[in-house]
Amino acid sequence: MPGPGASWIGEEEKKEVLDVLEGGCLNRYGRIGDPGFKAKVYTLEQEMARYCGVKHCIATSSGTSTLLIALQAIGTRPGDEVIVPAYTFAASYSAIIFAGGIPVLAEIDESLTIDPTDVEKRITPRTKAVMPVHMLGNPSDMDAITALAEKHGLAVIEDCCQAVGASYKGKRAGTLGQMGAFSLNIYKTITAGDGGLLITDDDELYELAFAYHDQGHSPNRAGVEVGKRRILGLTFRMNELTGAVALAQFRKLDGIVSTLRTKKRRLREAIATIDGMHYRTVHDPEGECGTLLTVIFDDPARAATVAERLGTMTVDHSGWHVYSNMEHVLRFLKEHDRPHEKGAYPQTDDILSRSINLSVGVVDAGLGSAFGININSSDEEIARTAEAFKQACD
Ligand SMILES: *Cc1c(COP(=O)(O)O)cnc(C)c1O
Repeated sequence: MPGPGASWIGEEEKKEVLDVLEGGCLNRYGRIGDPGFKAKVYTLEQEMARYCGVKHCIATSSGTSTLLIALQAIGTRPGDEVIVPAYTFAASYSAIIFAGGIPVLAEIDESLTIDPTDVEKRITPRTKAVMPVHMLGNPSDMDAITALAEKHGLAVIEDCCQAVGASYKGKRAGTLGQMGAFSLNIYKTITAGDGGLLITDDDELYELAFAYHDQGHSPNRAGVEVGKRRILGLTFRMNELTGAVALAQFRKLDGIVSTLRTKKRRLREAIATIDGMHYRTVHDPEGECGTLLTVIFDDPARAATVAERLGTMTVDHSGWHVYSNMEHVLRFLKEHDRPHEKGAYPQTDDILSRSINLSVGVVDAGLGSAFGININSSDEEIARTAEAFKQACD
């Protein structure tokens, strides 16, 4: 069982997909005025932009391609440095590398998001941008990060791939920096199998990002536009079938997030307090998605014992979310004379070795959240899970 949206696939998604198939226009560029063209991708973009209170949204093929086109749009050039947390999915790094940049890793703090104090220490004349990652549905410390970016003239791209539906102090995640990138992969809050969404309030960045994702074309073209393409682009468009599923899922987003928040609160209240354990820092308790409940122990040995009893793992062992487990990223860092060994980010290693992710909506062994509840868990299951957790802590 992957993400919460996947658990709620139903009649609405079916209806939207059939609508596209019956119309026969599978590409986002149907002919305006053709009754068979249902404009699902375009509608999704309009609804997402309105939901976030920004001018523009581009629907794409994945979270990874969204990050890549955002980095291209801000003008990342070979050798530019982009500061990114040492705890994130591998795609945050690969997007920077494929944009020609160098990922400069920074420590996380007990929010399990990037530590702004450490970001400042890593700024150099080559730094182009900061990429905070709102890990596990929890927005980063955006007040501190945007202040730093302003002071040093850096762009901010928010990796919101795990935070669809999150907000920070009343603003939607993805609207605090220049651009926000979301994923619709099967493990995320809502899903279309794969897919992505890019948001921005900046007209110029929108046009550039659109062109990078669509072979250099300008937004929502009607024809081939010979002579009008100002840059080279690639193809990262979303198609209408994906758009149909994504649109139905998007319309369930508020229901999914409020259900997750309620279930998370119940699980947390049932576990309450345990000696030698606390919960991770959440910068805006009203705004995080509630996809996971992360507990942090004082003692790493105890965290390991509890995890083993629960049939799960401490977060430091959770695959391609921890820098030290990404052999391909480490190889790149080594080739570029960057810190690349386990132990290079001691604060991150320490926190993750003491942390366990309990699932609320994202049940994913690769994220270390094989134990916990899911979006459809009953109150009884939540109580039983809390009890099992408390027993494992004894
Ligand atoms: C999932 C994820 C991505 C990549 O999204 P895809 O849609 O799988 O390409 C990027 N960053 C983070 C933090 C993610 O969790």
